[in-house]
Amino acid sequence: MFFKSVTTILLCSLFLISSAFAKNCNQYRAQYHCPADKRFKLHLSFDDGVGSVTPQILDTLKRERIPATFFVLANKVDCQQYRQSCMKGRNKKDCQSLQLCQQRRQTLKRIKREGHLIGSHSYEHLHHSKLSPVELQSNIKRSKQILQPFFSTKPAPFRLPYGDGWFNQKDKPQVMKALKQHGFTHIGWEMSGFDWNTKNQQGTKILDNVMTQMCSGRNGTVLLHDGVFENEHEGRLFTAKNLAKWIPVMRCVADFVPLSHFKKELR
Ligand SMILES: [Zn+2]
Repeated sequence: MFFKSVTTILLCSLFLISSAFAKNCNQYRAQYHCPADKRFKLHLSFDDGVGSVTPQILDTLKRERIPATFFVLANKVDCQQYRQSCMKGRNKKDCQSLQLCQQRRQTLKRIKREGHLIGSHSYEHLHHSKLSPVELQSNIKRSKQILQPFFSTKPAPFRLPYGDGWFNQKDKPQVMKALKQHGFTHIGWEMSGFDWNTKNQQGTKILDNVMTQMCSGRNGTVLLHDGVFENEHEGRLFTAKNLAKWIPVMRCVADFVPLSHFKKELR
């Protein structure tokens, strides 16, 4: 009798928990005008890192078992640029920068170890279609030299800063051509959180952006940020802090998939 009551209570609680969750998801579906019962495939990608908050993002992804792609700015993990000056004792600031750079390299190793994909976001965050042929080659090549040990696919993924050279490839075919020459495949995005815009860094605006785009019928990769390209050592704090809250809402309508789900060449 006792066990029967316990079982009944347990079953009732489970029902209540699951119906409460279903109710929440239904509410989100209604809020974002998601088609009933339709599920989407979603891949998370993070640009402009490695940043100070990247480990926080990795913790969330690990807990939620979500595979992501990190498009890394190679100059953030090119520690050689600080090493010489620090060793010669010329500049204390360079020694601090060296230390931070080495920490970012450790995080880069962790990204790979935890099964995420690493791609290049070039060496510097420049408008690639406006570069001279020499600068264009040098940015792509330098990023490859620095990031090569962290790539796990052939071709390796590359995302152009500002998407410049990708969305305007008909007018500026030299950029995509140069990427191909260096063995990269370009990865754009189907959705964006617009989390780089400080105006969106409040409330649920970034989540709203993703949900609205997805529920309008899109599957694919969403663009988020773990770094701030203007600042060598900064991270995208708002995204890192709130990602754990956004994921359950996204999961109401989406299954998280690896990039290879959409890009056969990365299998
Ligand atoms: Zn960027």
